Amino acid sequence: MRLNDSLGRPLRDLRISVTDRCNFRCDYCMPREHFDSKYEFLPKEKIISYEEIIQVIKSALPLGLKKIRITGGEPLIRKDISKLIKMIRDLDDELDIAMTTNGVLLRKNIQLLKQSGLDRVTVSLDSLDQQLFKEITDSNYDVQDVLDGIESAIDSGLKVKINSVIKRNLNENQLIPLIEKSINYDIPIRFIEFMDVGTTNSWNLDSVITGSEMRKIIQQKFGPLVKKNSNYFGEVAKQWTILDKEYDFGFIESISSPFCGSCTRARISSNGHFFTCLFSEKGHDLLSMMRMDADLHDISNAITKIWNNRNDKYSEERKENTKERIPVEMSYIGG
Ligand code: SAM
Ligand code: SF4
Ligand code: SF4
Repeated sequence: MRLNDSLGRPLRDLRISVTDRCNFRCDYCMPREHFDSKYEFLPKEKIISYEEIIQVIKSALPLGLKKIRITGGEPLIRKDISKLIKMIRDLDDELDIAMTTNGVLLRKNIQLLKQSGLDRVTVSLDSLDQQLFKEITDSNYDVQDVLDGIESAIDSGLKVKINSVIKRNLNENQLIPLIEKSINYDIPIRFIEFMDVGTTNSWNLDSVITGSEMRKIIQQKFGPLVKKNSNYFGEVAKQWTILDKEYDFGFIESISSPFCGSCTRARISSNGHFFTCLFSEKGHDLLSMMRMDADLHDISNAITKIWNNRNDKYSEERKENTKERIPVEMSYIGG
């Protein structure tokens, strides 16, 4: 059965935040002044278990689900994450299973992840310069730890991509080195506009460097860029080619060029709430339903009802939206 929302968009992807914790404190996502030692992360009993995640996926598979992305917080700090991948893989051979990670624990985990049935990994990396990397991530790790992770993933045969958030007056100077590195690795990179997720990252329009501005910088070094057609309905990143190098890469332009019209993504937060938009203020508490003995049929019916009513298009309405909103944090809902 193909389940469509009120704007005709199918439910294809489910992003699952397996933890609200992280070993980084990226300034655009979990700034340390908010996520400090006093911050109350979810207690263990409120975190969705692997069995409960499987129950949600099983309920959504007959509705047309094709892709799962494991995210967070940092998914590789959740204990035995490969077990979850294996449990998902055992449900369906065809399901596309991906993970988004900051990469520093990837090398350690790569063999198990691969054996468990992971298809793809996206590694977030915003700077190749060690000092700037430390400044952005506010962590004890080195940029080399991330590069080791990326290399181990490439060697393992997984499909690998890099994601880079570019913020004005912070890391525009990393655009060129990051592309050069990706060309060198022969993997795609996607540059992401800084988004107004959550309430703690001090977002303002002035700190957004748009995709078009990024392309101007890139063209100065690499010559003409040509826009490609999208590969499939719901593709988030707009694809471009560096003509001289025949190299394809992407831009996720949620601020300057929203893509709500083809948004097929639902999210499960680390406490088991179902969200129909990254910028939602409230989710639907599937975890409580499951803990009150709801069966697969009940969960499937609940998801169907929620998705049928879905009319989110926050990014397209951002400019007109004057109402004071309190969207949930990215680390909790999953990027
Ligand atoms: N910890 C993992 C990581 O960093 O890859 C997974 C979770 S993280 C929330 C997922 C993605 O969201 C990362 O690529 C990160 O760069 C991106 N992200 C977080 N906050 C963002 C923001 N304010 N604007 C744009 N992208 C953001
Ligand atoms: Fe952690 Fe990822 Fe957020 Fe950075 S972007 S703080 S690595 S969850
Ligand atoms: Fe999808 Fe919401 Fe983002 Fe629009 S704003 S693309 S509906 S997650």
